[in-house]
Amino acid sequence: MDIKVLTIFPEMFESPLNASILYKARQKGLLNISLINFRDYAQNKHNSVDDYPFGGGAGMVLKPEPIITALEANITMGDPDQEIILLSPQGKVYKQEHAKLLAKKSKLVFICGHYEGFDERIRAFATEEYSIGDYVLTGGELPALVMIDSIARLIPGVIKESQSFEEDSFYQGLIEYPHYTRPRDFRNIEVPEVLLSGNHEHIKQWRYKESLRRTLIRRPDLLSTYNLSEEDRNLIREIEIEEQIDG
Ligand code: SAM
Repeated sequence: MDIKVLTIFPEMFESPLNASILYKARQKGLLNISLINFRDYAQNKHNSVDDYPFGGGAGMVLKPEPIITALEANITMGDPDQEIILLSPQGKVYKQEHAKLLAKKSKLVFICGHYEGFDERIRAFATEEYSIGDYVLTGGELPALVMIDSIARLIPGVIKESQSFEEDSFYQGLIEYPHYTRPRDFRNIEVPEVLLSGNHEHIKQWRYKESLRRTLIRRPDLLSTYNLSEEDRNLIREIEIEEQIDG
């Protein structure tokens, strides 16, 4: 996958791109990331990328010319296998389902905002606008990194066993079951017996029920879009009795 990031703070990407999964994906040639400083495309004496807002008010606004010139100099517009993503708290709230869709593209472009945000006319050049949550950050660099990390994990070959992301929270629509490792007894809290049984079928059933339990307790909103089978409904009734939840 080819990723281009338009930012005025390319140094913010150095450490995250040079560690862990993102580093390995780049080393394996599965991920190619270019950082483009759109300040280099500013056509004015002071290389300024921002200006005062028309109509007055606090803060500075990112000018259209540097960003659009940088875009046009580095990408082919209108490629159907490419998504041009504007990072903005006003965008569609980013979810795992979006990561899955974006992981299928071969080219992604991220435009990181700053200051008060973008001149409105920049929006027309993006194909998607995403927010990573209902809060406001200083710039689009951290949101771009969050999205890049979550997408890179889904690119075939980046994570060794595909199972390790397919069972992750949200991938199938539920949150994940609890994990345990050694020791078997930690300060009198024991690992559930079934996990020590060696019976793979029982372990699978236990994990699925715990995944449903966690989702019901922590994120019941997810169940409204999850395709519940009759068996799932029975399990949920059992959990509601066990947890003394009014169904
Ligand atoms: N004044 C803008 C507003 O109220 O919508 C917020 C501007 S914010 C301080 C500066 C930049 O940070 C935005 O243009 C965007 O690129 C990025 N940003 C901030 N919060 C974000 C979020 N939740 N998701 C994605 N990008 C965000």
